Amino acid sequence: MAYDYELFVIGAGSGGVRASRMSAAYGVKVGICEDFRVGGTCVIRGCVPKKLMVYGSKYAHAFEEAEAYGWSGLAPKHSWATLRDNVGKEVDRLNGIYLRLLKDAGVTLHMGRGRFMDRHTLEVGKETITAEKFLIATGGRPEMPDIPGKEFAISSNEAFHIDDPLPKRITVVGGGYIAVEFAGIFNGLGSKVDIVIRRDRVLRGFDEECRTFVHESLEKGGIRIRKETEIVRIEATDGKAPYKLHTKGGEVLETDLVMYATGRLANTAGIGLEKVGVQVDKKGAVAVDEWSKTTAANIWAVGDVTDRINLTPVAIMEGHCFADTEFGKKPRKADHRDVPSAVFCQPEMANVGLTEEEARQRLGAVKVFASTFRPMKQTLTGGEQRTFMKLIVEAATDKVMGVHMVGDDAAELIQGLAVAVKAGATKAQFDATVGIHPTAGEEFVTMRAPRPEPGPVKAAAE
Ligand code: NDP
Repeated sequence: MAYDYELFVIGAGSGGVRASRMSAAYGVKVGICEDFRVGGTCVIRGCVPKKLMVYGSKYAHAFEEAEAYGWSGLAPKHSWATLRDNVGKEVDRLNGIYLRLLKDAGVTLHMGRGRFMDRHTLEVGKETITAEKFLIATGGRPEMPDIPGKEFAISSNEAFHIDDPLPKRITVVGGGYIAVEFAGIFNGLGSKVDIVIRRDRVLRGFDEECRTFVHESLEKGGIRIRKETEIVRIEATDGKAPYKLHTKGGEVLETDLVMYATGRLANTAGIGLEKVGVQVDKKGAVAVDEWSKTTAANIWAVGDVTDRINLTPVAIMEGHCFADTEFGKKPRKADHRDVPSAVFCQPEMANVGLTEEEARQRLGAVKVFASTFRPMKQTLTGGEQRTFMKLIVEAATDKVMGVHMVGDDAAELIQGLAVAVKAGATKAQFDATVGIHPTAGEEFVTMRAPRPEPGPVKAAAE
């Protein structure tokens, strides 16, 4: 039977666009559908606009510090509308680039939501499309609370479009990547920010010492963190701010904007997966094997919809591996080991490899090298922020198994060091590397003495 396409991709985000372009480059007839905007979460309402807003918010700190370096007469005022609209224009530009990339690659775009009719047939709006193979790359969406008054809360999707002026008081619920990043943005732009978390510290899952360091640094930077607090109801008069946040403990917190960042869910509802035998896991994510193959023979899935490591470069890697394997005669599996990542909170955190806790559990004997210091830039300003760095070394092999940093430019530094970790570099090779002076990064190649065992120094917040 002749199908309309050899490959049809559902979802034009990072993973879907990469897979479709690479497959088309192998001479395959490819179609793709998208129900929102080509580019996906990362480009349209995630990593890219978020990072631009982080840049915008950081000027506040630069202005504060500038006086110690001799600058005076700075009385800057910030316009949220200007930042928001300029970021929006950049998103539009990137959206245009993504559209052009698809067109130039010969991939046919169909706007609309895809829904399986059977294993080879998809309904996209009013169109019926047939394909030999399908790739599901529908990404994720914010998980919102199921509490009375939830309609008054926004998610990160809406955070890029908040009305001007930015509210004076903003409450962010959750302590993950998105929560701490937006808390830093709003704080830098002059709002009074509260983070509400249900446990004792932000960023569960990261190295314990780094979490504590970030938590304390956020507080030093002026963000109030309400620990062990759960919001059970949101109340508003006439549906407008100020909002009253009722806690489980009976407190009432007042705020002008409440943003939830309590995790994301895979976009699997309404695609007709049950009709084609694609199984999902307990959280609703598409179950795949190491080749990104679903439980249906002609259907694959990549990116956040599979809930493996929910990061753009990982979705791109998975999409590229799929195309190489299925159409490029170069079978290769996505390698999910030693994936570096960064959290663009202020100060920034980045890491690659194992946390100290994982290393102790998996490797047995480990050596930990750690350093906390005042960044050089702060010596004139008297600022309180510190930088934290940590290397985790397997005692038996001398291999560096984890590198962690909290401080300025952590993401840029860790990207470079991730190559060394991926290549299996040893601590001796780190020691043999000459530093660049004066930088923060040189600390990573000059850490001489391991911390006395056992274990990390107990942090104050524990
Ligand atoms: P995360 O999974 O990172 O964090 C969710 C947070 O919400 C946790 O702190 C969790 O805290 C808390 N939480 C969960 N349920 C509730 C609840 N019912 N009430 C209160 N708190 C709750 O999710 P995000 O939404 O921050 O980010 C989603 C994904 O997006 C991330 O996993 C990441 O992969 C990706 N991302 C990556 C970025 C980057 O690379 N820089 C930036 C932004 C997003 P608890 O400890 O209590 O469970």
